[in-house]
Amino acid sequence: MSSPSRPQTIDFDTARLQRQGSRNRPAAPLAPVDLPRLSQQLSQQLQSSLEAEKILGFFFHGVQRLIPLSTMAYQHQESDLYLQLGEDSQHTAYYALRHQGKSLGHLVFQRASTFTEQELSDLETLMTCLAFPLQNALLYRVAVQNALRDPLTNTGNRNAMNQSLPREVEASHRHKQPLSLLMLDIDFFKNVNDSYGHGTGDEVLRVIAHVLKTQLRNIDRVFRYGGEEFVIVLSNTDRDCAATIGERLRRSVLELEFPGPNAALNMSISLGCSTLLPAESADSLLRRADNALYIAKREGRNRLTMAG
Ligand code: GH3
Ligand code: MG
Ligand code: MG
Repeated sequence: MSSPSRPQTIDFDTARLQRQGSRNRPAAPLAPVDLPRLSQQLSQQLQSSLEAEKILGFFFHGVQRLIPLSTMAYQHQESDLYLQLGEDSQHTAYYALRHQGKSLGHLVFQRASTFTEQELSDLETLMTCLAFPLQNALLYRVAVQNALRDPLTNTGNRNAMNQSLPREVEASHRHKQPLSLLMLDIDFFKNVNDSYGHGTGDEVLRVIAHVLKTQLRNIDRVFRYGGEEFVIVLSNTDRDCAATIGERLRRSVLELEFPGPNAALNMSISLGCSTLLPAESADSLLRRADNALYIAKREGRNRLTMAG
């Protein structure tokens, strides 16, 4: 029997019925644990965490007591969660998970040998243990993400920066890797609100934040630091690279054209850049970028100033 290559949809509410029907099935001959016991143990273990990554890790390791797997990949686009455990392999079983009418993401299992009907049936039974723990973990994840996100620009908020920056600084010191910080402020932004209204101001903020994010690597973090001020944390980036990136951002914003009632509206940004010094704190790194930004403003705006 070949494994399903098209996604199977697991509706947890009907799958639970199947599980009850399969309770009396004899265990596979070489299985270190039988299906009902594994279901029970997994259900308990999966309820012990609210972290989706941990829950999926428990599941991957638990399932293998009955069904050998090479890999398990999970994807839930809505909460931006992509996880792969183990190594890619040849044969695939693919499931779209649904619970109470909502998508709980996709699970892909792989291994070198084909899955038997019995194994797929057991796998589906075991997946029912995931329903409530995974649903709760995804809700929790969204709540945490929202608490750390600025809804207008979809960048990290000040809280997120306060959590993230000290960690980045500490990691840079520990791994002896460079770390740079850009602080940027939109020039004459108040004029946009005054002349075109707050709605246009919001749109300018959204578009500029989007441009910043698309110009950066995935690992670089953008935070909305204040009204029209952003902080960008550039991991493993030395002073020269940070200067190049800052210049690129400045030019990208300058090239934007926002529709105005008469003529197109152009915007510019000013930036201050600091690079972590030996034993320097997050506060000091931030302060030096802020001072450099102040100089960029004072010297005429639409420019990047490097902290000394
Ligand atoms: P400078 O070049 O010196 O930075 O001048 P500026 O006009 O950009 O700076 P100022 O600090 O005087 O004005 C910032 C403005 O940003 C004032 C505030 O109303 C506006 N602002 C802050 N947050 C938001 C927001 O979420 N939406 C909109 N539309 N405006 C905002
Ligand atoms: Mg400004
Ligand atoms: Mg400002």
